[in-house]
Amino acid sequence: MKIAVVGGGPAGLYLSILVKRRRPDWQVSVIEQNSADSTFGFGVVLADSGLNRIQAADAQVYDRLIGKMTFSGCQTINLKEQPVDIHHPATGGAIARIDLLHVLQDTAKEVGVDIRFGQRIEHPSELARHGLADANVIVGADGVNSVVRAAHEKEFGTTRSFLTNHFAWFGTRRVFTKSALVFRDWQGGSFVAHYYPYCATGSTFVAECDHTTWLKFGMEAMGNEERQQLFERVFAPELEGEQLISNNSSWRQFPVTQNRHWIAGNCVLIGDAQTSAHFSIGSGTRIAMEDAIALAEALTEAAPSGATEPTALQRLQRFAEKRGPEKAKLLTASRKSYLWYENIGEWMRRYSPYEFIHAFMTRTGRMSDKRLAEQYPELFAQLKREGVLRDKMASHEESGHPA
Ligand SMILES: Cc1cc2nc3c(=O)[nH]c(=O)nc-3n(C[C@H](O)[C@H](O)[C@H](O)COP(=O)(O)OP(=O)(O)OC[C@H]3O[C@@H](n4cnc5c(N)ncnc54)[C@H](O)[C@@H]3O)c2cc1C
Repeated sequence: MKIAVVGGGPAGLYLSILVKRRRPDWQVSVIEQNSADSTFGFGVVLADSGLNRIQAADAQVYDRLIGKMTFSGCQTINLKEQPVDIHHPATGGAIARIDLLHVLQDTAKEVGVDIRFGQRIEHPSELARHGLADANVIVGADGVNSVVRAAHEKEFGTTRSFLTNHFAWFGTRRVFTKSALVFRDWQGGSFVAHYYPYCATGSTFVAECDHTTWLKFGMEAMGNEERQQLFERVFAPELEGEQLISNNSSWRQFPVTQNRHWIAGNCVLIGDAQTSAHFSIGSGTRIAMEDAIALAEALTEAAPSGATEPTALQRLQRFAEKRGPEKAKLLTASRKSYLWYENIGEWMRRYSPYEFIHAFMTRTGRMSDKRLAEQYPELFAQLKREGVLRDKMASHEESGHPA
């Protein structure tokens, strides 16, 4: 089998490692437009559930990643200048994106993946000039502006829309001790900062505001530098004199990209190329790597003894069938989460800090009060003391259910 992977980001590299480990005799080639040392963004968070899957799929990559990760075990949520620490031992950790890529690149080379850096293609047909015209499978792991997806948009059934909030990913040299979400009403605007430390020298800082704030502060007419300075003023108490650092940190409205089908001919999409899960439900990186695990399993699964080897297309279909239901759940959570964020100004005005935390924690519908009590007992007790859960508690008690 010959597999051509377009895109050497987390999805493409991890997929090639997993496939090559299980099928060393297969040819796996990765075509990457950038050099090995170039990347965008700063640190990325890998949630615990994602780390567990990485560990199960490939203990060596897991160990290497863990060695470079920063764990805080605590997240602060700050509304109306009342910071509340939420402790959870299993919140995952953060890693510099470039460290993550280097771990994956090094491992991929060790297992015999053929990586070609500095080679952008504009269309899958250009794989021919890399000697990959006869690839059995072409994997579109080429991110949010995927050319593999664009070449077969109709077959994939691609839809794209944009959210109204505006955001940009920055870094800062301020090394925060814990991850935090700060929701600040500043001069009548609704500003959000999500920051977390990812190494000994810096933190990621995601800046966001709603469209009303964007217009009110004239951000449409500002240059990127001026927008950055505005956020530095709003979050001066947190930055303590440090500036935000840009690394291609353009301001964007989040693109909601979905594909009705993941397969077109011998092409298949994974990671950001396939679906953009909103950053508020955890990093796209984890989801991209989980896609890679599922596709690698489907591609390399041995046929039951006596049965004929499945064709490449049958293997791709198996991937879509197996990963589909889980991805649908993630996308539902992502949708509920971004719709919640789209009304952030209203929630910031309407709720008290603890009401807000409860609404935030339960916004996707995946965290029931019962689960909240099990996973965050300290917070749950505090929410009860604050009266946020009083009505629900009363109805639980009346119905004889434990709260
Ligand atoms: C500017 C920016 C900053 C971000 N920062 C963070 C962050 O701090 N934390 C976080 O959790 N998430 C962040 N994200 C989101 C996260 O990076 C993605 O969800 C995740 O990287 C998805 O992995 P992927 O492998 O699917 O795609 P990508 O990481 O986008 O990888 C795609 C790869 O394909 C290559 N490629 C693209 N087109 C071609 C082509 N035509 N030919 C050859 N190669 C090609 C690209 O160079 C890239 O290496 C950020 C996204 C962006 C755009």
